[in-house]
Amino acid sequence: MKLDQMVRSVYPNLTPYTCSLADLPVEEMKQALGLEQVYKLSFNENPLGPSSKALNAMQQALSQLNLYPSSSGEAVQGKIAEKEGVLPENVILSNGADEMIILVAQTFLEPEDEAIIPEICFVQYMASTYLMGATPVFTPMKADLGIDLKAILQKITEKTKVIFLCNPNNPTGTVIPADELQAFIKQVPENVLVVIDEAYHEFADGDGYRSSVELVSDFANVFVIRTFSKIYSLAAARIGYGIGQAALVDAINHVRPPFNVNSIAQAGALASLDDAEHVAESRRINQFGKQLLCKTLDELGLSYLSSQANFVCVNTGKDGQEVFDRLAERGWIVRKLTGYGLNSSLRISIGRPEEMEAFVEVFKEVLSK
Ligand SMILES: *Cc1c(COP(=O)(O)O)cnc(C)c1O
Repeated sequence: MKLDQMVRSVYPNLTPYTCSLADLPVEEMKQALGLEQVYKLSFNENPLGPSSKALNAMQQALSQLNLYPSSSGEAVQGKIAEKEGVLPENVILSNGADEMIILVAQTFLEPEDEAIIPEICFVQYMASTYLMGATPVFTPMKADLGIDLKAILQKITEKTKVIFLCNPNNPTGTVIPADELQAFIKQVPENVLVVIDEAYHEFADGDGYRSSVELVSDFANVFVIRTFSKIYSLAAARIGYGIGQAALVDAINHVRPPFNVNSIAQAGALASLDDAEHVAESRRINQFGKQLLCKTLDELGLSYLSSQANFVCVNTGKDGQEVFDRLAERGWIVRKLTGYGLNSSLRISIGRPEEMEAFVEVFKEVLSK
């Protein structure tokens, strides 16, 4: 049996999800580093943990594990629709936002197609494009590392099928100004789908940001992706969703597996949507940590990108790998950005207030060496 002759021809472009140190669960990090205490600031997780309302609902849902879940997740779908001012038929659930990105690729991308992706952006857009045998076309960032919409317009060809955007963007934290984004969408041909990943939507509160959900009614080619993994703190439950016009949602429903979101995740998501206090507290913690971190960076004279998410992209002015290693030795795991060519930068997720107070001291010490 020659496996390499049997697998699909896209295979060489696919890579298994390999866990470097920054990707491990905390317990495995402790083992890898031989440390008793490890702080994980590498995954943009919500340090507050899930809403207690969500945990209760999930516990109750456990007794029904013998039954298949609702396929469309009607209850969650309905609540999201109500919250976002759309209809249930505009909402589709997925096994995390990651699955929604794959579903979009499976629905739209043929091997001869191109998908345009900003160079410094979430990596799953590229992976899903390769999975379908389509070609990712990368566009340069603006000088300030914002997403360059003009550069994207210039790359549109007859082969372009999908444009992937992330707003606020991961790993930079920057937002695309709402007026620019709207003007851009007007210029994109109707037969090109614009996917806007708003995984950090609930954290965005600053100038210029507006959700693209408001564009869905006017533009049949706009699809917005959200997740319960970030502010709602349900990353391990795996649930996300998309919002688009009914025909678009219906098209994606043709490729969606019948029971892609389990009942525990549905129960947790439903209860989370009702816990405004948990969201407010998560935002408050994030604001505190982000302000403390940025104040420290200002004092150190380091440049960083203005972030509307739950992480900050910092230029350490040194070798990013070295700073990463020194932090790791002390039990602090952040995210390197060498894969994007940002060799002196690190992405630091915002932890709990007391974690951030400790982190800034360690960071100062590490940088003074
Ligand atoms: C974290 C993240 C996701 C993945 O979310 P899941 O719902 O956990 O799959 C998707 N997009 C972006 C930009 C993210 O940062």
